[in-house]
Amino acid sequence: MLPNSDNNNKKNFKMMVISSSILLALFIYTMFKSSSSIEGSSYYIGMVFLFALMLFAFGLNYFREKLKKYLPKNSSFQEAMNEVKPEQTVKYAQDNSSSVVEVTKSDIKFRDVAGIENTKAELSEIVDFLNNPKKYLKYGVKLPKGVLLVGPPGVGKTLIARAVAGEANVPFFYQSGASFVHIYVGMGAKKVRELFAKAKSVAPSVIFIDEIDAIGKKRTGQNNDERESTLNELLTCMDGFDGDNSVVVIAATNKIEVLDDALLRAGRFDRRVFLKLPSTKDREDILKLYLKGKKYSFDLANLAHQTVGFNSSALATLVNESLLNMIKRGDTSITDEDIMSAKQKVEYGSNEQKFLTDEELEILAISKAVKKFMSSYQENINKTIKSKSEMTDIIKYYLCGSIGVETIKKEPYNIDDMDIAKAYQLALLMKEQYKMIADVDSFISAIKIDLKEEISNHYDEIMDIKAKLEASGEVL
Ligand code: ADP
Repeated sequence: MLPNSDNNNKKNFKMMVISSSILLALFIYTMFKSSSSIEGSSYYIGMVFLFALMLFAFGLNYFREKLKKYLPKNSSFQEAMNEVKPEQTVKYAQDNSSSVVEVTKSDIKFRDVAGIENTKAELSEIVDFLNNPKKYLKYGVKLPKGVLLVGPPGVGKTLIARAVAGEANVPFFYQSGASFVHIYVGMGAKKVRELFAKAKSVAPSVIFIDEIDAIGKKRTGQNNDERESTLNELLTCMDGFDGDNSVVVIAATNKIEVLDDALLRAGRFDRRVFLKLPSTKDREDILKLYLKGKKYSFDLANLAHQTVGFNSSALATLVNESLLNMIKRGDTSITDEDIMSAKQKVEYGSNEQKFLTDEELEILAISKAVKKFMSSYQENINKTIKSKSEMTDIIKYYLCGSIGVETIKKEPYNIDDMDIAKAYQLALLMKEQYKMIADVDSFISAIKIDLKEEISNHYDEIMDIKAKLEASGEVL
């Protein structure tokens, strides 16, 4: 269990006061007993010195809170963490409770995260804030308390959150959303409170809540008292930050659209970072990272092209499996065969990590073709001041890929999740911030109807674009 810095400081001050009082009592007692054989002046000097010492100790105790500012932050964390190996977890057991809050020292750095350059650039500002909060607080700059990482599984959301803590060298609190879900009302809320209290006590620190949708789903007010009380507590704790706590909360989700609007409001998770499946260039960078220092005889750029649809985690597994194959052969260099048989294993071993089938590629080609056809809708995406109709067009652009597939294949598919999320976010902004629309769902439904009609009317042109994309190998 980690020592709590607050308690330690209190204890130290108390000990100082007690010891100086005892010293003073002893001194007076000695003076009294042997006053006849002591010269007057030396005993007065001694008395004054001890009184001064006691006053000093009382002063320290009284100004404890103010003085804490000048003590090195996190000292208790550093002390405890020095004894903890990187990535080892320390558990804070809570009194009279079975729940635990876990803290880790993260050794992951940005250099361990390949690709996703934009995400790293966005988060480096947070690292700087954690490293040097005074630089920002001096000017009254308030950095986001909450960062929401939105993206499919295995694209590095947890890894990048660990890297933020690692780069800033601050404690990392990992908690999965599901771990807050309890049967008894109030248990989840208690765990949220404990988590935030611990993170504050060793601030600056990073809290990471994985799969926040497990607790952050829209509140219905019906039959889910436990989840809703947990979510309310999370909102309260985030509001409770007074800006100079230097606790950054990072959360991850794959489904931003199911999150309660209150979580996305200003002062909570108001910064959002979208992560996608890695592009060809990202895949090459990730493969390079995992192959660093290893010998291989296959074409890396070619492999990056052949691994369309792989997430970053699958690429890491692919390299690992091919190394195992190499070792099995008693070789020291990875060959094409090692990679190919590893790829087969990764492809068929897990449903999440596999190549796309021809049908899946067709779905992606349709989505891409519709987007290309409707690219004029995104014209104003970078404009600072936008009209309601320009914002509506941008939402149309975000939705057109998935609606295109739904219209052409006659049923919806689970694609374009990031774009759908962006569409809902923008619509939410139009409702909450600009009061342009009354209701997000009915606004989006009307856009979908328009899109379906437009796509049906231009079916042939879209199919032409699709054929061209497929012929030029530009589907992914
Ligand atoms: P997510 O949280 O998005 O589901 P993770 O961060 O848990 O994904 O990624 C799982 C594993 O995949 C990581 O532990 C790491 O080995 C690998 N990985 C993911 N993204 C990257 C990346 N950008 N660079 C290097 N490795 C990655």
